Amino acid sequence: MDRERSRDVYDRALSVLPGGVNSPVRATRPYPFVVDGGDGARVVDADGDEYLDYVMGYGPLLLGHTLPDRVREAVDRHVDAGPMYGAPTEVEVELAEFVADHVPSVEMTRFVNSGTEATVSAVRLARGHTGRDKVVVVQGGYHGAQETTLVDGEFDRVEPSSPGIPDSFVEHTLAVPFNDTTAAERVFEEHGAEIAAVLVEPILGNTGIVGPVDGYHRTLRELCDDHGALLVFDEVITGFRVGGLGCAQSKLGVTPDVTTFGKIVGGGFPVGAIGGRADVIRGFTPVGDVFQAGTFSGHPVTMAAGLETLRYARDEDVYDHVNGLADRLRRGLTDLLADHAPTYTVVGTDSMFKTVFTRDGPDDLTGCCEAGCRQREDCPRYGTCPKTGGDVADAATERWERVFWPQMRDRGVFLTANQFESQFVSAAHTRADVEETLDVYAEVLS
Ligand SMILES: *Cc1c(COP(=O)(O)O)cnc(C)c1O
Repeated sequence: MDRERSRDVYDRALSVLPGGVNSPVRATRPYPFVVDGGDGARVVDADGDEYLDYVMGYGPLLLGHTLPDRVREAVDRHVDAGPMYGAPTEVEVELAEFVADHVPSVEMTRFVNSGTEATVSAVRLARGHTGRDKVVVVQGGYHGAQETTLVDGEFDRVEPSSPGIPDSFVEHTLAVPFNDTTAAERVFEEHGAEIAAVLVEPILGNTGIVGPVDGYHRTLRELCDDHGALLVFDEVITGFRVGGLGCAQSKLGVTPDVTTFGKIVGGGFPVGAIGGRADVIRGFTPVGDVFQAGTFSGHPVTMAAGLETLRYARDEDVYDHVNGLADRLRRGLTDLLADHAPTYTVVGTDSMFKTVFTRDGPDDLTGCCEAGCRQREDCPRYGTCPKTGGDVADAATERWERVFWPQMRDRGVFLTANQFESQFVSAAHTRADVEETLDVYAEVLS
């Protein structure tokens, strides 16, 4: 793998794209491989080398790189019909009906064009609905590139985490650690009457994959109810992945007021969505007064791709397949760690997986969760497995990025480039792919 063509293309990219990329996570060192195309569970780079892909577009590609015929035909039909109109289409109604039929919290949906746009609009909607300004977020949670949630700090002592955001833009943001019910209670005690919403990922999916401890989201639900705030689940990454078509909320048994979607619901095309109770979602213009609009929103090609992807997932037992393979991967990784790196933690659920290079923990994995951390209180690692975004940040993150990831790539396995982002199994992966992957992990971790 000499990646010469990739290097040449990236060299040109550096002159015309900042960092040579359009999203920072893609700028791997010393230079990224440039993708020529995808094929099932694999991507092929500009030099013709193949990689078994667990990045899957950072989440959207539930079905892998090759669109099943019915998805492809639906996309082609809508491309042939002219890509978009600025007038309603039936396909956006059908996708909204499908989402309402399957996701517990959703009666109505507004479609937008990215997960970021969905969370921006959800925050505006919650503020408009409640007439309050404050929004509670979780440290290590990710809600896209939006001003309200890009913060460092805790409780009401937060500051923007990026230049370009005035301090005043985050003066209404409150940050608490994930899985800490005491901190959540405290923030409501101090600010309850001013809180418009808690915005939280049901599972931290962009910071190592951290699952909720028992009862955490139930506590958030109760706090919101007691204080008249909205509970907003950001299911951009977990939506139509964890918990199947019911999403993570169905698996957790906690129903938020509003849910944000993105990634899978667009079937590989740019998408976002805000769904929820009809009385809340009707707050958006033109029914309510909360301004929300978009030239490309409900784009017919995207709607068709999303709808046929979800129908395919429903009809072809996709969740059984991807969850089963990921379970095998997590079990295999747990076995490998027992031999080679017992302080590391296997995390993930359904078709999400990751190995967090945690530094502390018992040297013996006896009695631990075999298929990835379940936050079981009786597990011998309960005190050392990641509970918060900070716990993941304390892991050997440089080792992942500089030593582990490049070795996996050079052996033909494409993982997410840093310690924090989740990895995904798609419908295109096979049992043989999983065994091959475990062999490569074994080689690199030993
Ligand atoms: C990816 C992601 C976003 C942002 O979505 P974009 O489409 O990249 O803007 C927001 N929230 C979560 C939980 C995500 O995983």
